[in-house]
Amino acid sequence: MYPRLCIYKSKIKSNAENLLKLTKENNVEIAAVTKVLSGNPEIAKVLKEAGIKMIADSRISNIKKMISKGIEGPFMLLRIPMMSRIQEIVKYVDYTLISEIETAKKLGAAAVKLNTSKKIIIMIDVGDLREGIWFENAVEQVGEFLKIKGLELSGIGTNLGCFGGVLPSVENMNLLKDIKEKIEDKYSIKLEIISGGNTAAIPLIRSGKLPKEINHFRLGESIICGTDVTNDLKIEGNTDLTVILEAEIIELKEKPSVPIGEIGFDAFGRKPHFEDKGIRKKCILGVGEQDIISSGLYSLDEKVEILHASSDHTIIDVTESDINYKVGDILKFKLSYGCLLKASTSEYVEKVIFE
Ligand SMILES: *Cc1c(COP(=O)(O)O)cnc(C)c1O
Repeated sequence: MYPRLCIYKSKIKSNAENLLKLTKENNVEIAAVTKVLSGNPEIAKVLKEAGIKMIADSRISNIKKMISKGIEGPFMLLRIPMMSRIQEIVKYVDYTLISEIETAKKLGAAAVKLNTSKKIIIMIDVGDLREGIWFENAVEQVGEFLKIKGLELSGIGTNLGCFGGVLPSVENMNLLKDIKEKIEDKYSIKLEIISGGNTAAIPLIRSGKLPKEINHFRLGESIICGTDVTNDLKIEGNTDLTVILEAEIIELKEKPSVPIGEIGFDAFGRKPHFEDKGIRKKCILGVGEQDIISSGLYSLDEKVEILHASSDHTIIDVTESDINYKVGDILKFKLSYGCLLKASTSEYVEKVIFE
């Protein structure tokens, strides 16, 4: 059935192995992040086979799904918890990233009730402006978390790149390191995990500039996609042919390159632009913005140009291609991280896993 995502397990596995090698040389542990493939248990399994110890996901429902399919933890919950989901988190999550004291109290209380304790990693915002205690207040506020019964402080972490686009740097990693040292001094404790980065921090390892105190990375895109969108890089030694979207041609006609009539806004409120190249050979694919982000599709036939898409139709120009396409043919695409996330989440896109 088309459209479909073809997921190549062994390629994802070799990407994970490559990054495990790099991080091990630098004493950094990896939590492999499964959210872009919606916590697919078969992929989690292959990541474990590659030697990954910790699996991380942003959604508790994905973690529950993996557990129900027999995937072994430890599991890390990436998105700071919702108060309303504490009962599930206390049951299924091993390491919870957290930044709110009230949520932490609730998690601690839920753990005490079950006669257990839960490991937390306090998130610190060193500038990207997504989750975390503001770095200037971190040392002080960690003290409040330490008072909570039922919680065990495993460490601290930070996230960069994803919201503000702030690049991981020696400066912001040193900020995290300083906070670690101050917390350890002030409260006479040892922090086991200093979770400094996601994919965007890999160049810091490669350059040898990562402070040695940073000993944990949460890696998704670099393993699953083989790319690093924040730094606009391909990951050295990894492949980006891990997941391919296949879509079917449902119309193929010669049409003008510019629409006829006054141009308003498209179905999504965007104003499309068209270059006049005369009459072109154009296809409609049976996939659209409900399933993909058209600007995040990269055709494997490099002579195909992706023009624009509406909810259910993607229009491409095949005039320059060496292939003589016909209706019913299948086109293949690599996907950006954002596009893969959407395709993976769309129930209208079939997922097929290959060795
Ligand atoms: C998604 C996410 C990651 C993984 O980021 P990648 O860029 O895919 O490596 C890491 N940490 C947190 C908190 C996340 O939400």
